[in-house]
Amino acid sequence: MIDLICIGNELLTGLVEDLNGGYLARRLWARGMPVRKKAVVGDRQEEIAAALEEALEKSRVAICCGGLGPTEDDLTREAVAALLNRPLVQDEGWVEKLEAFFGERGMSMPASNLKQALVIPGARLLDNPYGTAPGMIIPWNSRYICLLPGPPLEMQPMFERELLPFLEGLDWAEKVQTRLLKCVGLGESFLDEQLKSLREWDNPSLCLVSSGLEVHIQLCATGDGRRDPQQLLEEGAALIKKALKDFYFGEGEETLEEKVAEALLKRGETIAVAESCTGGLMADSITDRPGSSRYFKGGMVAYDPAVKIALLGVPEALIETEGVVSEAVALEMARGVRDRLQSDWGIGITGIAGPGGGTKEKPVGLVYVAAVNGPGEECWQLLWNGSRRMVKSRTVQAAWVLLWRMMREDADS
Ligand code: ATP
Ligand code: MG
Repeated sequence: MIDLICIGNELLTGLVEDLNGGYLARRLWARGMPVRKKAVVGDRQEEIAAALEEALEKSRVAICCGGLGPTEDDLTREAVAALLNRPLVQDEGWVEKLEAFFGERGMSMPASNLKQALVIPGARLLDNPYGTAPGMIIPWNSRYICLLPGPPLEMQPMFERELLPFLEGLDWAEKVQTRLLKCVGLGESFLDEQLKSLREWDNPSLCLVSSGLEVHIQLCATGDGRRDPQQLLEEGAALIKKALKDFYFGEGEETLEEKVAEALLKRGETIAVAESCTGGLMADSITDRPGSSRYFKGGMVAYDPAVKIALLGVPEALIETEGVVSEAVALEMARGVRDRLQSDWGIGITGIAGPGGGTKEKPVGLVYVAAVNGPGEECWQLLWNGSRRMVKSRTVQAAWVLLWRMMREDADS
């Protein structure tokens, strides 16, 4: 097991969001090394030492991030030295590196930086191409204390280049393997019902996480000497995919947007979007993907009803009878943009993002998302809670889900 300790008052007060704990946990689990605990402690020597003491009691490896800087409040190395009862010594090689680091930048080294050349005797130093503090791997009683710098831009490359290969070289008895299955378009209670029997598994164990409109299911298998974790994952994943076959869209780093884009390319079709309340966010999300010019014709932000009439050909009478936020108008917008931009698919989005502008019949958060493709036409009525930004981003996600659904139905039929 591995313990992670993120160090810094700014993390405790929330001034800076802890990015390192999440990053390291994800990377370690992905490589089969389980994390037992993540802790955040302030810049206090006795707190750091106490967290380390607990970590070394329970886990084989403790990784500390932060507190290696030159300032008075950076106390990680002092805490380790005191805990292990080893004096800090100056590493002459690192002093030279520091001098070179500052020299290359036309600066002379501030005296306080010399502190960063103080190392724990017996430590293996980890190079820091982007900063001035060395990382360290300190063996102690067949355990390891690993020190990494706090800034994510220094920490990540050091971890990837030096610490991760070192950790992978250790012999891990409790090696774990994980797999992430992604589903969309299902409620949590439905999911719970579907996975009832599977949730009692202890190997692989299941962990469910909602991410916007998606639900991600992480499977985590531990090799127990008898059964191969890979095999356990394979069996677990097959059962989940079967139970959730209408909702499962991909695995690991795969995204729904990518799946839709791949389907469009495969079908040789193009798309265009007409947006009102999302103000171009759908077009933005389509163009986030390199190569989207192969299937994205373009988009119109038709905010004012007059623009919906003039540029998209939405009949004025329809707006009067149905209201501008209606299924009929969303569908007309989708057809209008498809015809005008000569695409295969058209998307129409109209809604009330709030916080004002709602009525009893048409409350804030009411949105219609329509998609048309040849004879295939579908419109979803959605009602979101939350801020204006939330309504906009959820609506865009829903548009992707609608597209994915319609393409799947085509593929199934
Ligand atoms: P430095 O030499 O830059 O001082 P350091 O190892 O002492 O490195 P800290 O002083 O603890 O690192 O942190 C430096 C900066 O790095 C912080 O101000 C913060 O912006 C960022 N940082 C530290 N820890 C984290 C973390 N866990 N997540 C995100 N950012 C962090
Ligand atoms: Mg600090």
